[in-house]
Amino acid sequence: TAVVRLVEVTKRYAEHPDEPPALDGITLEVGAGEVFGVIGESGAGKSTLLRLLAGLEKPDSGSVAVRDLPVPALGRRALRELRRGIGVVFQSVDLLSNRTVRQNVALPLQLARRRDAPTSRAEERHRVDEILEFVGLSHRADHFPAQLSGGEQQRVGLARALVTRPALLLCDEPTSSLDTTTTSEVLRVLVNARDRLGTTVVVITHDLDVVKAICDRAAFLERGTLRELFEVAKSDYRSLP
Ligand code: ADP
Ligand code: ADP
Repeated sequence: TAVVRLVEVTKRYAEHPDEPPALDGITLEVGAGEVFGVIGESGAGKSTLLRLLAGLEKPDSGSVAVRDLPVPALGRRALRELRRGIGVVFQSVDLLSNRTVRQNVALPLQLARRRDAPTSRAEERHRVDEILEFVGLSHRADHFPAQLSGGEQQRVGLARALVTRPALLLCDEPTSSLDTTTTSEVLRVLVNARDRLGTTVVVITHDLDVVKAICDRAAFLERGTLRELFEVAKSDYRSLP
C-alpha cells in the first residue's frame, strides 16, 4: 500500500510567475516501509516536494495524498491531525537552545497532550527515554543543544520527529553538513526507524552515496521534473560502517 501518492503535481511560487514551476507534473508513490530518496541538485524542487508532503504548501494542480488523505483538500483540523502522523526534520534542526535534549524531544508529546491525545507524564517520560535510547543519545538527555555535535543535534531532531511514532518520516538533507562517521550514525537511525518502528522514510539529499547506502528507491528531480525513478540495485547497496 502507498503511504505517499502524488499525481501530476505542479507547484509554482507566486514570487516567480514567469519561471518554470518548482515542481512540474510529478507523479510518484512511496510504499509503506520504504526508505525513499529524493535526489537532485540545488533548486531541483526537493524541499518543495517535502513541504507539500508535510502539508505546508498546496499544489497548484494535481493531487497529494498521504495515507490516503488528500492533503490539499483537508481543513485546518484534519491537516493538524495529518501532521501528527508525519515526523519532519528540516535541514536546519531547530532545537530550542534553552531546553535540554529531553525537553526538546518531549515537546511534540506535550503539544499533543494539550489537544486531545492524553498521555500521562510518566508515559511521556518513558517514551522520551525510549526514543533517546533508540537514537543512541541516552547519555545526552540532560545536555543542551549547544553542547552537542552536529550529528548528535540531527539525531535529537530525529528523536523529536519520531517520539510521536509517526507513520511517515520526512528528512531534508539530514547529513549535508556532517562528516563520514556522523553521517553513518544518522543514516543508521533512518534505517532503524524503518526496520524497528515500521516508519516509512522519505529522505532528501543531493548525495548519491546516501541513496546507495540506505534507500530502496529514489526519485531524481531536475529543475522541477521527475527525470528518473529508480530502484537501488543490490550490487550498489553499501553497508553502513
Ligand atoms: P531544492 O530543495 O531541490 O534545492 P527547492 O524546492 O528549494 O529546491 O526550490 C525549487 C525552486 O523553487 C527554486 O527555483 C527555488 O528558488 C524556488 N523556491 C523554493 N522555495 C521557495 C519559496 N518559498 N518562495 C519562492 N520560491 C521558492
Ligand atoms: P533548500 O535547497 O534545502 O531548499 P534553500 O537554502 O534553497 O534550501 O532554502 C531555504 C529556505 O528558503 C526554504 O524555506 C525555501 O522555501 C526558501 N527559499 C528558497 N529559495 C527561495 C526563493 N527563490 N525565494 C524565496 N524563498 C526561497
